Amino acid sequence: MALSTGWNRRSFLGSVATLAASVVGPRGPTAGTRSPAEPKPTGGFGASGNVYEELGVTAVINCQGTMTMLGGSLPHPEIQSVMEQASRHFVSIPELEAAAGKRIAAMLKLPQGYSALVTSGAAAAIQSGLAGVLTGDNETLIRQLPDLSGMKSEVIIQKSHRNPFDHQLRSTGVKLVEIETRDQLRRTISDRTAMMHFSNFANPNGQIKVDEWVKLAKQYNIASMNDAAADTPPVSHLWDYVNLGYDLVTFSGGKAIAGPQCAGLLLGREDLVGYALLNNSPYEDTIGRSQKVGKEEIVAMIKALEIHLGEDQEALAREWQQRLETIAHEIGKVPGVSTSYFTPPVANHVPHMNITWDQKRILLTAQDASRQLRAGKPSIAMGGGKEGSEGRPGLVMNSFQLQPGEDKIVSEQMVRLFRAHSA
Ligand SMILES: *Cc1c(COP(=O)(O)O)cnc(C)c1O
Repeated sequence: MALSTGWNRRSFLGSVATLAASVVGPRGPTAGTRSPAEPKPTGGFGASGNVYEELGVTAVINCQGTMTMLGGSLPHPEIQSVMEQASRHFVSIPELEAAAGKRIAAMLKLPQGYSALVTSGAAAAIQSGLAGVLTGDNETLIRQLPDLSGMKSEVIIQKSHRNPFDHQLRSTGVKLVEIETRDQLRRTISDRTAMMHFSNFANPNGQIKVDEWVKLAKQYNIASMNDAAADTPPVSHLWDYVNLGYDLVTFSGGKAIAGPQCAGLLLGREDLVGYALLNNSPYEDTIGRSQKVGKEEIVAMIKALEIHLGEDQEALAREWQQRLETIAHEIGKVPGVSTSYFTPPVANHVPHMNITWDQKRILLTAQDASRQLRAGKPSIAMGGGKEGSEGRPGLVMNSFQLQPGEDKIVSEQMVRLFRAHSA
């Protein structure tokens, strides 16, 4: 069993300790460079070039953004080449993780003493990161999780920051203690407190904001984590929260970073990042053994970051806005339809369009509009009614996951839908 050998774990911690975080990684090619299509199988499954069609599964035009339920994002085609290279050899996964972490920390210019771990997603990074905080490098404790005997047992979180991904905190066995005010926080901190958790997207909702939360954690000498899974763009978020002082920060690899779908990043203090790996696959008898990350995903994450860092985010945002305006121009021709724009302050920080209509002229609820677009051919995923509309009336869409030509299809389908229900 890998865990009992021990030597490779120590060598991981040894090699992360020699991190030269000031080394500047190479910047990648600019966005939009597409590699030629992969050769397709000559027979059998995939021979048609459309595996989804062969399975009878409907491919969707994505106006909702980076939703794991819809497959996240479409990975940069360039990463296929590095995944293919990785798939041709055997390597020690802990050695590869340490080298990749070192490279990623350098690319992001993280401060001295900080490293990175490629995980199977942000959710895995949350669980492994906390597990590492709880166990350190103690093998007995690592095997024992989620039995917390002999460990700290509470994580403090603002009430408004609770969300479905705190399941990955609870899975370690800890109790989440909710607070709202600074006073409640001070009274709640005790020798049972393992960590203070922050959900970055909830920053506007809580009384204690992202910068103060980490200051308080430092003041009480408590480990802090910020879950920023979906919070690039802007790319600066990849280093901003480490620079604010967070001990651990998590990101999805398969959202806007457009890396492999089953990958994510845990950035943070190199000791804690090392302990997180000890609680994860490939090590057995660990809570994270079920969160295997492959050699292909590990190298692909480096390539995806290289590309993401090289992108001109302002030019992309202009392009995304332009796509929305093209759609607005077409659907605005239907009497009664109005459009407006907004950009959420954090999480999916990209141009969005809100589409509303005069209910007396177009007899259609937002929920039905969303359902009919999804049921149409081609199928279009767009938030509306209760789901995915950021609490706004009407439909809400963004355009950053649209593929070339799809904006035209979206406006045609919507015009058809609105005209069909016009009074
Ligand atoms: C998507 C998301 C996660 C999970 O990320 P995965 O990479 O899919 O594991 C965690 N937290 C938040 C806030 C998210 O949006």
